[in-house]
Amino acid sequence: MSYKNFPMVPRVIFGRGSFNQLSDILAPKRLNINAPFIFLVDDVFKSNSWLTSRIPLSYDDKIIYISAAEEPKTSQVDDLVEEIILSNKERPSGIIGIGGGTLLDLAKAVSIMLTNEGEAKDYQGWDLVKNKAIYHVGIPTISGTGAEVSRTTVLTGPTRKLGINSDYTPFDQVVLDSELLKDVPNDQWFYTGMDCFIHCVESLQGTYINTFSQSYGEMALSLCKEVFLEDNLTSKESQEKLMMASWHGGMSIVYSQVGVAHAMSYGLSYLLGTKHGIGNCIVFDHLEEFYPEGVKLFKQMKSKHNVVLPQGICSKLSDKEFDTMIDIALDLEPLWENALGKNWKKTITRKKLKSLYIKM
Ligand code: NAD
Ligand code: ZN
Repeated sequence: MSYKNFPMVPRVIFGRGSFNQLSDILAPKRLNINAPFIFLVDDVFKSNSWLTSRIPLSYDDKIIYISAAEEPKTSQVDDLVEEIILSNKERPSGIIGIGGGTLLDLAKAVSIMLTNEGEAKDYQGWDLVKNKAIYHVGIPTISGTGAEVSRTTVLTGPTRKLGINSDYTPFDQVVLDSELLKDVPNDQWFYTGMDCFIHCVESLQGTYINTFSQSYGEMALSLCKEVFLEDNLTSKESQEKLMMASWHGGMSIVYSQVGVAHAMSYGLSYLLGTKHGIGNCIVFDHLEEFYPEGVKLFKQMKSKHNVVLPQGICSKLSDKEFDTMIDIALDLEPLWENALGKNWKKTITRKKLKSLYIKM
């Protein structure tokens, strides 16, 4: 047995208002005046001077606003890299992602592709990246995905939705300022928060579970329960707690895996463009047989927060479309193996997956 040796985020700053220290954090990392910092910022903040006026810009530093309406694509990463190379004299000093999982993943992928030849799609998979990425910083503005700690950046490519999993993917620096979460809309807060909850359930109930993952997973699960089931937290407390839940949930799956909900939600995402948070919720709602306790809690949280999930999103699909989703889901073998053990193929047939998708 050989154990995997994982990198972790080497530097993190935590605290309400810590975003104000960004200038001090970045200054020592500037290579020279021709090597700018590029800020990839969710365009939801475009006219929000409360946030943007505090982004420290000097020399040729630049903000690129990006919509999070769609999840990151390999072609989008390639276009951004080209734009950055063509519009600057030198390679950037750093890439800073400000936003949710979408922007964090874009920042990771762009920083990798600035130092590696070819196209982003060539690196979807495990340990294919050859060169160290450019210095990259993650600043979450919504919490739950764990993208701020993870070793992957999830991209939709021409043939598949798959992460660039590598030792060079994790951020060099993360800034955890819970104040940045203050305007997240209620539904989105729930969907992205549930991504964290589902990470915990899938990790803790999985066959890959071990003490490393369990300790992080249990901590994250207990924080999620506080945030989504109790009434006595201030908004500051729930923002801070969900931020740390996301961190621990992400750490939990470093050494384990996600499971059925993620496998099936990747299918929805690939075919229908359903976003990760809401997609996981739509799937998880129907997974009592796999995660009875988790789904029961999920339904309690859903009703407590008055969230109504879309119904019937698969009702008009053709057989060919079902096949596409099923292919994407079944391709994620480690997720199924984690969820159900080595003999997962005995129970997870195409027919079984179709019968689940039809309900959604
Ligand atoms: P997101 O980044 O897609 O954003 C969701 C919505 O919230 C967007 O409309 C965005 O504009 C808005 N938003 C973000 N911050 C806001 C704020 N402070 N105020 C108001 N609105 C705000 O959401 P997400 O759920 O964090 O990320 C989903 C993405 O993360 C998917 O692409 C998924 O594949 C990826 N993901 C990555 C990992 C990983 O380990 N790399 C893990 C899980 C998910
Ligand atoms: Zn997830």
